[in-house]
This record gives sequence, structure tokens and C-alpha cells, in this order.
Amino acid sequence: MAAKLKKRIKLVSLAILLLAVTQIPFAYRRIVTSNAASKVASLSSSPKAGADARMREVRGIIHAHTSIGGHSMGTFDELIDGADRAGVDFVVMTEHYSDEYDTASLTLNGKIRNTFFVGGNEIDTADGERFLMVPGGPGAAGLRRLPTGEALGQMHADQRLGLVTYPERIKNWENPFDGIEVLNLHTEAKDANKLLMFFDAFWSVSAYPELGLARFIRRPDEALRQYDRVASERRVTLFAGTDAHSNIGVHLFGDDAGHKLFGIKLDPYEAMFRIMRMHVLLPNDTEPNGRSIVEGIRMGRAFVGVDCLGDTTGFAFLSADGGSLMGDEIPAAKELVARTPSPGRIIAYKNGALFAEIDNGDELRFTPDGPGAYRIEAYRPMLDSPYDRVPWIMSNPIYLR
Ligand SMILES: [Zn+2]
Repeated sequence: MAAKLKKRIKLVSLAILLLAVTQIPFAYRRIVTSNAASKVASLSSSPKAGADARMREVRGIIHAHTSIGGHSMGTFDELIDGADRAGVDFVVMTEHYSDEYDTASLTLNGKIRNTFFVGGNEIDTADGERFLMVPGGPGAAGLRRLPTGEALGQMHADQRLGLVTYPERIKNWENPFDGIEVLNLHTEAKDANKLLMFFDAFWSVSAYPELGLARFIRRPDEALRQYDRVASERRVTLFAGTDAHSNIGVHLFGDDAGHKLFGIKLDPYEAMFRIMRMHVLLPNDTEPNGRSIVEGIRMGRAFVGVDCLGDTTGFAFLSADGGSLMGDEIPAAKELVARTPSPGRIIAYKNGALFAEIDNGDELRFTPDGPGAYRIEAYRPMLDSPYDRVPWIMSNPIYLR
């Protein structure tokens, strides 16, 4: 009997020891996250005055769901609160469609508190490809019976944007879509190793909800390769989708319908809306509203800012004479300049190939060497791994034709 008890005590001690040992990496990750948080706080951002006096900048989210379109448990109130607390100026809603009712007109639309909402749809085509239709409308469900080319034709005839979401599903890159979602925050979080996330949730995400999730963001090499190929031929908007569902949880003994014995919500709207924003530039004489924001997105006057690594507000990419900016197609430019609101590694790509860079600074000037799509990425090398590899800024191109 005593021998049996001894054996049991030994086993239990071994299990406790093993559990403790497995927690060392997560405790270490917590230290890394906490260091990153204090470094981000110390790197104060100061937008360069007069970066582009003709434009005003609005910050917001493309790609958000609530329970109205399924796949999400989020309510309007939760989303409105999240947008308000995160201080975003706009949210492009992209509800899944229904055969029975128009989810785009039933979702959030117009100005609520300080945020402009645009009701859009996430749609399928008969080719098995997926798009964000902005604004959305009653025809969303029917588009799944049309091949992609026809579906996009119909969207354009109705003055709507058709933006690629889930680029890995696209078979025909020749179709005339308006933009490519190179990064999808929900997919990044969902695809992360669940066991890692479970312990990270305990150690890091609860204390640092944004940085705890941002560590899973990687440079989307393949999507950018496809983007750069299309952009070398025509204007197409680069954007990142938050794809907020408020539905990723780590839970024990539960199901995805929300019945959980023990659970932690990893992707509440507020945190998702703070991690990464689309920054859209609007002409100063334009009233900010849903329509002008969608037009700014269509024009590619926008950049992706992973703002939890440091506020990217005030980033500028323009011709040195100030005449042209992101999204412009121009015959020539003597010099292009990118300015970040605080220092980082700034890289210029031409048609996807590295063209110019500085390791640590807040301005990169370079002379383009002929036609091509020139765009900027910025990183924060002063943050420790993995945050030094998370893209901090991804701009839209200036196109030299
Ligand atoms: Zn979605």
C-alpha cells in the first residue's frame, strides 16, 4: 500500500514538475511582451508637421462581422463599444449574406457616436472565390451563382467595390477586383497554435491584449507576391482586414456555440480594433463620411498601420515635390520620400523587389529608376523578436507608368 502511495506521489510530483518546466517559455514570452510594451510606450510618435497639408487622415477597420451574418457571436452594442473605446473613425462592416434578408442594410450603417459605419457584405462567387462587396446590398447572396468576372461586373455597375479576401482562394488574378487583403488578422490569430495560445492567454494576452495577439502576425509573403504582380500592371488597393468576429476563444470543455465551462475571449472587438488600422487619406475639402472613406480606399490613398507597435498616424509616402501621393499613377517622379512618425527600418519595394532601405530612421528618400509600382514597408527593429518581424506599416504604391 505504502509503495503504491509513494509511486503516486512520485507521479504527481513529476507531472507538476513537467507542467512547471513547460511554462518557462510562456513566462519568457510574457517578459518579451512586457518589454515590447514599455519600449513602444517610450518611442513617442510625432507626426511630421505638414506631411501633406492637403489631406486629413482617418483611421479605421475594414472587414468586421456581427452575429447578423453568422460565424460570430458579436452584437451591435459590443462592436459599437469596441469601436468607440479603440477610437476608430470608421468600420467597414462585411456581414455574410443571407437568402432571406439583406444583411448589409440591417447591419451598422451611418455615424454612431464618433464612428462612420459602412454596411458591406462578404460574398462568394461561382468560382469559389471570396470578395468584400462595399457597400453591400440585397444582391449579395445571388452573386454566388455568377462567375467572378460577372460578379465583379455587377458590383462595378452598382458603384460598389469588390475587394479580394482570402487571396489564397483566388484562381484567376486577371479579374478586375479593386483591392487585395494581403493580411487577415483573424486568420493569423485563428491559425496560431492553440496550445501555445492557451498558455499565452494566461501569461500575456490578459495583461497585453494587443501585443499578446500581435506576436502572431507575420509578413504575408505570398499574398504580397501576388499583390505586387497585379500592382505592377494596374492600380489595386493594398489593405489589411481585421475580420473581427469576436469568436476566438480558448476554452476547456466547451463548444463553439459559446457554451464554455472555462473560457478566455482572445479577440474582443476593442483589442482587434487597436492592433491594426487602415489609415485613409481624404482631401481636406471633403466631408469625412462613409462615401468619401470608401472612395479613399478605392483610390489606394491608404496604408496599413499595426498601431500597437507604435502609432503610425502621420506616416507619409509622396513625391518629394509634394505633388503626388499613395495611389497616384504618374508619368515620372524625380524623388520619392517616405516619412514615419517615429524611427524604424524603412524599405521601398519596386514591383515587389527591394529597392531602397534605411535601417533606423524616420525618412527614406530614393530616386525611382523608371516605371513600376513603388511601395513602402516599415518595421521596428528596436523591439525584440518576434515584434521586430511584424510589419509595422505597409503603404499603397505610387505608380510610375
Ligand atoms: Zn470575414
